[in-house]
Amino acid sequence: MLKLNKVTVKYGNYAAVNNINIQVKQGEIVVLLGANGAGKSTVFHSISGLKKTASGEIEFEGVALKGKSPDKIVQAGIVQCAEDRKLFPRMTVYDNLIMGAYIHRKTKSRIKQTIKEVYELFPILYEKRHDMAGSLSGGQQQMVAIGRALMAKPKLMLLDEPSIGLAPLIVEQMFDSIQQINQEGTTILLAEQNANAALNIADKGYVFENGGVVVEGSKEELLSNE
Ligand code: ADP
Ligand code: ADP
Repeated sequence: MLKLNKVTVKYGNYAAVNNINIQVKQGEIVVLLGANGAGKSTVFHSISGLKKTASGEIEFEGVALKGKSPDKIVQAGIVQCAEDRKLFPRMTVYDNLIMGAYIHRKTKSRIKQTIKEVYELFPILYEKRHDMAGSLSGGQQQMVAIGRALMAKPKLMLLDEPSIGLAPLIVEQMFDSIQQINQEGTTILLAEQNANAALNIADKGYVFENGGVVVEGSKEELLSNE
């Protein structure tokens, strides 16, 4: 579904991502592991079109993404849920979710159905639908951010550190929800520092160090490496 072939991404002269290969098959959960600064977010920005690649190719469903605007990439079916969540704090949970649907021109009945699916996944968001997004806890705000991405009905969801800043118990729930989203048909590329929790739900992983992939393998291979 997604292929990165010898991709290098630079900030000025510095290669934040250096000659990497990544493959994501439809239906998988693939995790990018590595410490802060290893290059994971830069990979995401290059896939979602926010950052140009210096060299290499990125293909989604057999089509090169080079030169496509971020909007076009969303329309192709890749939706990113950013690490900093980027919610509208003074808008309600409902309105924040609805914003996600307008990326695509969906019919009203389709939007209603999709928001119902989001509420089924995160019942707390239904209870809080009239609350300002900014009044929610960190974990709930992360649910809104994921829910908003789901409103665009992505084929591939990019999740950048969904567990950051969350209490351990909430982290577990978050990964359960991500697994559920995947089981309902969304392919997922996930960046995480929390290796064990992420590998637990992943099919495959890539370990980043200083912009390069130093280890890759199936969940079983990576867990036995540790
Ligand atoms: P490109 O031209 O390859 O798209 P740039 O080198 O212009 O990338 O960098 C993209 C963004 O990152 C710019 O907003 C730039 O100001 C910022 N930037 C570049 N290098 C640094 C750096 N060393 N520290 C902080 N920000 C940087
Ligand atoms: P991660 O997501 O794994 O924490 P990043 O992709 O954010 O890593 O960062 C990879 C490297 O690129 C780091 O050395 C970071 O300082 C650098 N970097 C990230 N964004 C910019 C930017 N806008 N300008 C310059 N350097 C950047």
